Amino acid sequence: MSTETTSYTDRVLSRTEQVGECVVWTGARTKSGYGVANWGGQYRYLHRLVFSEAHGEPAGDVDHICGNRSCVRIEHLRELSRQQNTTHRTVMSHNNRSGYPGVGWSEQKQRWRVRVKADGREKHVGFANTKREAYEMWRDWQELNNPVVHEPFLRMDAPA
Ligand SMILES: [Zn+2]
Repeated sequence: MSTETTSYTDRVLSRTEQVGECVVWTGARTKSGYGVANWGGQYRYLHRLVFSEAHGEPAGDVDHICGNRSCVRIEHLRELSRQQNTTHRTVMSHNNRSGYPGVGWSEQKQRWRVRVKADGREKHVGFANTKREAYEMWRDWQELNNPVVHEPFLRMDAPA
């Protein structure tokens, strides 16, 4: 396989199946249903990869118009501004100042702190300037480290 001209999108599309109007990734998925693969040593969301190859790196989240999170058909993907996406999202009520799970305010750093539970312990993940970024950090950590993966992550190397 792999000619040097193969795009990420072509390689993603080579592992999909047509389901109705959607082009659905047949490889690994995160718990929440997004298609993912190990791409050049990094876990990547495939809908974002396909989107950025067509339109450039999205500033906000990429949303599925069709509602199928493992769909990678470019016509079904659109970029949401951060604000739009926040209103779409259900904010979980937790006992911390942020309203997001795993996110709390650090007086010392004057930033939002992200923590996860790993092996029964609290683990520090990082700091973020906004709650929203902190929440994304938390969510990404969960998706990458705690996924219920339906198949093993596929090893896919980025084209040179
Ligand atoms: Zn679709």
